[in-house]
Amino acid sequence: MTKPTPFVRMPPTPKGPRVGGEIDSFCTKCKMDLNHRIVAMVGTDVRRVICLTCGSEHNYRKPAVEKEREREKRAAAQSLSRTSSSVASSSSKSSKSRAGATLRDAGNPRATWERAIAGQPAGAFRSYAVKEAFEVGDLVRHSKFGDGVVARVLDSKKVEILFEDGARTMAHVSG
Ligand SMILES: [Zn+2]
Repeated sequence: MTKPTPFVRMPPTPKGPRVGGEIDSFCTKCKMDLNHRIVAMVGTDVRRVICLTCGSEHNYRKPAVEKEREREKRAAAQSLSRTSSSVASSSSKSSKSRAGATLRDAGNPRATWERAIAGQPAGAFRSYAVKEAFEVGDLVRHSKFGDGVVARVLDSKKVEILFEDGARTMAHVSG
């Protein structure tokens, strides 16, 4: 059996406040958000309410919680337009993974390279060769890239070597 959908007349403002209804308001006497009964409205604006807790009648005030929410919204909107410059800049390429031994550096490969190379005698450098095994801190001399220092052992086949112009992933053979 099919019932015809009954026609239901919706009240004009199903959820809106109405005189005699209840609403959350900040009570000026209790100093907190409480349930109030609406006693006067102008249009859709609630004007006078009676606190259901202390019974005092006063002007309607938005609950403090709601005010707080509005303030946050405004603050968020403001900060959106201001930020964006302070973010960025902190994440550099040098912090891929912290696994394994790493040459200590302050996020500046060039400075790290200089510190490692400075004052080292020529004899401290080994010439780079693919078949060599390297360890962190080893000084190497590359025919093309010049002097370098092993910054990281990536795995048994790759090391990261800092050269004057930056870090390079080079092949090696784990010893
Ligand atoms: Zn009250």
